[in-house]
Amino acid sequence: MKNALPADAAATLDDLFARFQPLREGSLNPATLALGDTGEDHFAIALATADGELLSVGDDAVPFAIQSISKPLLYGLALDHLGRDAVHRRVDVEPTTEAFNSLTELEEDHRPYNPMVNAGAITISALLHHDDPDGASDRMMAMLGDYLGRPARQHPRADDSARGAHRNRAIAHLLRHFDLIGDDIDGALTLYNRQCTVTADTRELALVGATLANGGVQPRTGRRAIAAGNVRDVLTLMFTCGMYDTSGQWAYNVGLPAKSGVGGGIIAVAPGKFGIAVISPPLDDAGNSVRAQRAITAISNALGANPYAARPAR
Ligand code: GLN
Repeated sequence: MKNALPADAAATLDDLFARFQPLREGSLNPATLALGDTGEDHFAIALATADGELLSVGDDAVPFAIQSISKPLLYGLALDHLGRDAVHRRVDVEPTTEAFNSLTELEEDHRPYNPMVNAGAITISALLHHDDPDGASDRMMAMLGDYLGRPARQHPRADDSARGAHRNRAIAHLLRHFDLIGDDIDGALTLYNRQCTVTADTRELALVGATLANGGVQPRTGRRAIAAGNVRDVLTLMFTCGMYDTSGQWAYNVGLPAKSGVGGGIIAVAPGKFGIAVISPPLDDAGNSVRAQRAITAISNALGANPYAARPAR
């Protein structure tokens, strides 16, 4: 097993779980409350290797909305189906210091900064929707299922959460105003809301990370979730933009591509090695789970996963 974990990896996860269990900082996002997911205390850590070994601790079978963790996956789907040029004609690849749901930069630059913030992700959902209005949702669910290793499912209260999303509606209208998306704004936003309200548990999300670590093939099912040649772009933008306006801080501290969602999940990827997922719903001001960030940083350090901290082999 080329990606076998150190013999004490399970004990390391147990120790870190116990260390961060008492941490109670942060607050729940309104989108989480709108879904009725008040599981403030949910906490789970999972680690999946690129060859399918899986370790986990805590509430690892509790499903929660993946929210923005869907963004890199839909970005990959758009690269696979529409190509790099079609996507990046409309969405840039620059990190931003604005909040994930900001309209400010769009208003100034007339183009979303990157696919990991709402303006960029809504543009990508709109491109996929307009390319195939009848088939985009099924295609998206099939792709998410390929990463998760089982059919993708929606949160039972998904439609309730969409009703409050006025800021996303404003973003979509501004995108329409700048001719970045087509006329069917409702269709684009429905697809965007569906991607955000797909549910997964922590073990399944670790396998999403492992799939990206494994060149796009889900290690347990052997199914390809994204073309091999597009994994690099997805991981690069997760690294530079995946933690919103604290992406620089994250890169500096952890050195791994990652993506957070306001549901409280974060996935991180050690390319070629493993994926880590942590769920803990309370968020910091940037919209990133407080406990998940702390836990992933500690796991990455314990396993020596930061490539920038690697020592040359002697
Ligand atoms: N559904 C949320 C929104 O659109 C997802 C954002 C996120 O996870 N940061 O605001």
